[in-house]
Amino acid sequence: MAQLYIYNTLSKKKELLKPLHDPRVGMYVCGPTVYGDPHLGHARPAITFDILFRYLTHLGYKVRYVRNITDVGHLVNDADSGEDKIAKKARLEDLEPMEVVQYYLNRYHKAMEALNVLPPSIEPHASGHIIEQIQLVKDILDKGYAYESKGSVYFDVEKYDEKYNYGILSGRNIEDMLNNTRELDGQEEKRNPIDFALWKKAAPEHIMRWSSPWSDGFPGWHLECTAMSKKYLGEEFDIHGGGMDLVFPHHECEIAQSVASTDKHAVKYWMHNNMITVNGQKMGKSLGNFINLEEFFTGNHNLLTQAYSPMTVRFFILQAHYRSTVDFSNEALQASEKGLARLMDAYKNIERLEAKTLEATVNIKDLEQKCFEAMNDDLNTPIVISHLFEATRIINSALAGQILLTSENIDDLKHFFNVFFFELLGIKNELKDGNASYEAFSKAVDMLLEIRMQAKQNKDWATSDRIRNELTAFGFEIKDTKDGFEWKLNK
Ligand code: ZN
Repeated sequence: MAQLYIYNTLSKKKELLKPLHDPRVGMYVCGPTVYGDPHLGHARPAITFDILFRYLTHLGYKVRYVRNITDVGHLVNDADSGEDKIAKKARLEDLEPMEVVQYYLNRYHKAMEALNVLPPSIEPHASGHIIEQIQLVKDILDKGYAYESKGSVYFDVEKYDEKYNYGILSGRNIEDMLNNTRELDGQEEKRNPIDFALWKKAAPEHIMRWSSPWSDGFPGWHLECTAMSKKYLGEEFDIHGGGMDLVFPHHECEIAQSVASTDKHAVKYWMHNNMITVNGQKMGKSLGNFINLEEFFTGNHNLLTQAYSPMTVRFFILQAHYRSTVDFSNEALQASEKGLARLMDAYKNIERLEAKTLEATVNIKDLEQKCFEAMNDDLNTPIVISHLFEATRIINSALAGQILLTSENIDDLKHFFNVFFFELLGIKNELKDGNASYEAFSKAVDMLLEIRMQAKQNKDWATSDRIRNELTAFGFEIKDTKDGFEWKLNK
């Protein structure tokens, strides 16, 4: 098994992955809150942990990947007060809250499929796990780390901090938190402003509500991930991921909840992807730079000068290490689009390579080895991509007759692209119609052009012209070369 090192946000260093139940790996990633269109902020964690999922699977681990759907109403300002986000949308659009959830969930799934993000093993809904969440509140109450107040239940942060350490993931301490806590509605129910809700009594107008021993109400946001990860991965599991914005308070509260209820740290490795900025600015609805994925795919947004295909967006995200920020701009995306097209052409051109020597002057296996080293070093996808460009230079030099390849070199190049470009980076061939297999498609075009060459040899100009003219009309650019033909499809 490879030596995979991943950066653990808890220990703040790279650690060798040693699964608790080798070869099984349990992995939990915080999924979307489904009350709006999927955007870049959804794409980055999904792609980051898709790479990890693909790599672990490639290494032979048996991965159970759980990514939740937050569909229980959470509150507009995330501070235990205000209106529930899903219910607000439902009210504004005159829909059932679950219609809002289903509508945006379908759109999320469609966008993830376009980005070639593999579906997780289990995708549990918070609303389907209310019983488990109520049980977790009871367990924390029994251990004495929570209290009931006017039908709501709050986690007692100060009491927890006396025995354990609240803030170990984010590095915050409770004095700082106290100094930075604003007084908000509902605070009078709490013993301490930094306490967080485990269960909230629902206001009369609140639609999404369930009965519990304390009140008709709904669970606190942090509860669902602790309850569902425990249900599907056990009290202790390997990897918990999410965006860096979730470190505090969400993941900090998850740690407190699992330690308080089971006396165990549920998670061995915490992993967080960094954020995305747009033209150097944080994304935000009020800044007008909030571009959703469909707008990227259609180019239908005033900040975009063109459409960017899902694979361009995916490739662009992978050109940065997941712990670095990524800044979206038209220039950067156009560069990615060109780079991706170069790699795709190179892959196609492997078919045209011929073995011209028995003695190798290049070593493709070495490039492949370097890529494994990069992946083992905390999933360093930009390094993998740089080696794919190196392979592209080799392919192009061989086509130009500048270097000679052995038949083993050619097989290695094919293998290298298949493993790293397609399987691990998860790039797929994109055609305008989306789903057709690029290989079958290329072969069909090649076949037509071969028929055209034969027609020319037979002086059957009518057939030869017809093939050329019609393919050109479909958007193909055809070039005759001294040993045959070249073609490409222009958009
Ligand atoms: Zn979560």
